Amino acid sequence: MLQAYKYRMYPTQTQIPLLMRHIHACRFVYNHSLEQKIRAYEQEGKKLSCFDLNDRLPALKEEHPWLKEVNSQSLQSANKNLDNAFTRFFREKKGFPRFKSKKNPVQSFQVPQHYTVDFGQGRIKLPKIGEIKTVFHRIFSEKMKYATVSVTSTGKWFVSILVDDGQPEPDPSPFCLDTTLGIDVGLTDFATLSTGEKIENPRYLKNSLQRLKVLQQRVSRKVKGSKNRQKAIQRLARCHEKIANQRNDFLHNLSFRIMSENQAIAVESLNVAGMQKNHCLAQSIGDASWSTFFTMLEYKCRTYGKTLLAIGRFDPSSKICHQCGHLKRDLTLSDREWVCPDCGAHHDRDINAAINIKKFALQDQNLVGVAGAERAREPVDLPR
Ligand SMILES: [Zn+2]
Repeated sequence: MLQAYKYRMYPTQTQIPLLMRHIHACRFVYNHSLEQKIRAYEQEGKKLSCFDLNDRLPALKEEHPWLKEVNSQSLQSANKNLDNAFTRFFREKKGFPRFKSKKNPVQSFQVPQHYTVDFGQGRIKLPKIGEIKTVFHRIFSEKMKYATVSVTSTGKWFVSILVDDGQPEPDPSPFCLDTTLGIDVGLTDFATLSTGEKIENPRYLKNSLQRLKVLQQRVSRKVKGSKNRQKAIQRLARCHEKIANQRNDFLHNLSFRIMSENQAIAVESLNVAGMQKNHCLAQSIGDASWSTFFTMLEYKCRTYGKTLLAIGRFDPSSKICHQCGHLKRDLTLSDREWVCPDCGAHHDRDINAAINIKKFALQDQNLVGVAGAERAREPVDLPR
């Protein structure tokens, strides 16, 4: 089983330019290879493999001698990453690989091997860079795979080391109606559980959001290219980073708790196309949080032998009475509560949705029959 350990690094003033050069070089190679791949395909109908791209590296180094100062294995892993991006694109229908921008908030490069870790001295030795002071808050004994070095927009350096304990992932434990949890995510509350529990968006997130708006305005009012604008951008970046850290803490705690308390968890797969259209700040942060949350749930479930079940968006989870299966077609977004015209049950919109998500997911597993659900599950237009 693979696990990653992430540590803070404190490179010296002479090491930082070397690290930055690695980051620039890997991004340069990634973008160059992406361009080559697109061109070879368009002009000759040829698919360049990772090996083809690595074969071209020596020539590229002659053309751009500064690349020679960089660990060549890091450059090769840039090609490997590009290859993986294409595999995901073809196999999982994920988006077409994009060019990497130097404006991305986190920049990184990989060191596949030949690096050493000294827990006692608090140092990590990277090829072509040397020993870097690192704070190891946890130690590991498993076999090291590759390391990823990253820097945030506020200049904090991290190294993430992937280790392999050689053990297979645990088999998922059996689950049933009582040990499965349904989750509905929404803007009013961060999440609603099929148990009836509502998980609010953390208050500090709302406060930080307000602060973010102010800082963003300040940046846009400063003259482009001025020192003051640079300072304002740094302040904005620090605020973004603080929010990201707070949000990650919240999501880690919540996903761990939910995973521990249940044998299986049912969620509704997110509408990614709809998410990209959204420009509202609160909404976009919400969207990002949910997909991170589901990713965390997924790998935590895999690590601890639990099951994550996802149902499609076409299941009208909010509009079906979970007791009798009646489909209330005229339910609007503003209806937070409703009474079923068929059986008279009183529903909280989100709790009812969470229960339905759980039922649909179990039904897909042939673990439970839902009254009337088959009838109601014909695709309907959802204004959600
Ligand atoms: Zn009903």
